[in-house]
Amino acid sequence: MSSYLVLARKYRPQNFAELIGQEVLVQTLANSIHNNRLHHGYILTGIRGVGKTTTARIIAKTINCLDPNAMQNAMACGVCENCRLISASQHQDVIEIDAASRTGVGDIRQIIDSIAYAPVMAKYKIYIVDEVHMLSNQAFNALLKTLEEPPSNVKFIFATTEIRKVPVTILSRCQRFDLRRLDDNEISQHLNNILAKENFQGDKDALMMIAKAGEGSVRDSLSLLDQALAINDHQPKLSLDLVEKMLGLNDRSKIIDLINKIMIGDLKQSIKVFNDIYSTTSDVSQIVTDLMEIIHKISAVKAIDNYQLEGFSSSNSKIIFDLANKNSLNSLIRIWQLLVKAKIEIDNTSNPRINFEMLLIKLCHLVSIPDLTKILVELKNNNKDFSLSEIAQEGIVLDLNNESKNNKKNDVGYDNNLVAEILNSFDQAKIV
Ligand SMILES: [Zn+2]
Repeated sequence: MSSYLVLARKYRPQNFAELIGQEVLVQTLANSIHNNRLHHGYILTGIRGVGKTTTARIIAKTINCLDPNAMQNAMACGVCENCRLISASQHQDVIEIDAASRTGVGDIRQIIDSIAYAPVMAKYKIYIVDEVHMLSNQAFNALLKTLEEPPSNVKFIFATTEIRKVPVTILSRCQRFDLRRLDDNEISQHLNNILAKENFQGDKDALMMIAKAGEGSVRDSLSLLDQALAINDHQPKLSLDLVEKMLGLNDRSKIIDLINKIMIGDLKQSIKVFNDIYSTTSDVSQIVTDLMEIIHKISAVKAIDNYQLEGFSSSNSKIIFDLANKNSLNSLIRIWQLLVKAKIEIDNTSNPRINFEMLLIKLCHLVSIPDLTKILVELKNNNKDFSLSEIAQEGIVLDLNNESKNNKKNDVGYDNNLVAEILNSFDQAKIV
C-alpha cells in the first residue's frame, strides 16, 4: 500500500514564492533578508492554519540555505541538506517548540541554557516557538533577557494565534508580521491549482463551499479537500453534491424549497418539507442557520446590484434570484428577524421541533400580512378607504377613515399623518 501524503503537507509552501496571499509579509521579509538586515526576533500572528509555522520554516531555510545566493535572492534552494532537514523538522539547529505543551519556566530555562552553544551545522541557530502566548509569565520573564541580547547567531521566530496575550515587553523586542486571512476566492483558487496538480477536477462551487467551510484557513480547507477526495467514489470530478453531503449541510435544495413554500404562505407544505429535512438531520438549530444563510443570499441579491452569488448550483441560483424578484426587502428583513429570534429560542429549548413548527406558523402568517409599500399603493389607488383589517387582526388599531383635520400631503400625495401612523404601527408589528 502506498502511503498517502496529506495535501496540506504535500503542497506546503517551501519558499517565499510559494507562500500564497501574504505578499506584503513576503516583500518585507525578503527585503530584509536580501539586505542582510536580520532582526533577532520575529513574531508571526494570524488565524490557525494560515501558514505561520510554514513561514517560520521558510525564514529558517532561507537564512541557513547552503546555496550562496539564497540570502541574496531571498530564495531557499529546497534541496541542500539544511533545507531538507528544516523542511522535515529534523534540523539540529532549528529547534521547534510547541509552547502549548511546554509552558513552564523549566522548559524555557532549558532553551536558554542551550543558546550558549554554537550551531552545529548551520549559520544560525533558530528557535521557532509556536503558540508563544501560552507561555507562563515566569517563562516570558526568563525569555526576556535572552531576547534583549541574544548571540548574533541566534534567531527567535514566535508564532501565535493570540497576539494580545503576548506581553508588550516581548512584542517590543520582535519584528511583527501579520499573516492575513485568505478570502474564499483565494482559497478556492488554491484548491483548484492543487487538484490540477493531482490530475483531478473540482466543481467551482464545490471548491468554493470547501473554502467557505475552511474559514480562511488553508490547512483546514486542504484537509477538507483530502476528505472529499477520499469519499469521492471514482468520479471524474468533485461535485457540489458530494461536498454538501460531506460537510453535513442539509440538502440545500430542500432548504430553498422550504423557503419557497414559506414565501407563498403554504404552511401545510412547509411543514411537510421540514419533516422531510428533519428525517435526515434532527439538528433543528442547523436548519434555522441554513434558512438564515439562504434568506441572507436572497436579500443580498435583492439589495446589491450585480451581486455575485457563489457556491450554489445553477438551478438553486435561479430560484434564489426568482425569490429575490418576487419578494420585497421589507418582508425579507422581517423573515430574517424572526429567524434570528427563533434561533436563540431553539438553542435554549428542550423541544426545538415545537419551536420550529411555531416559527413556520409565524412565517407563513407573516407573508400573508400586506407589505407596507403595497398598502401605500393601495391607499393611493383606493382614495384612502382601504381597510387594514389584516393589520387590525394583529391588534393594531388604525382608523384610516378618521382623517386628521390639518392633514398635509407629502410630495407623493400621501397624507403625512397617515403615513406616520402606518409606519409607527409597522414598527410595533415588525416582529409578529
Ligand atoms: Zn538550501
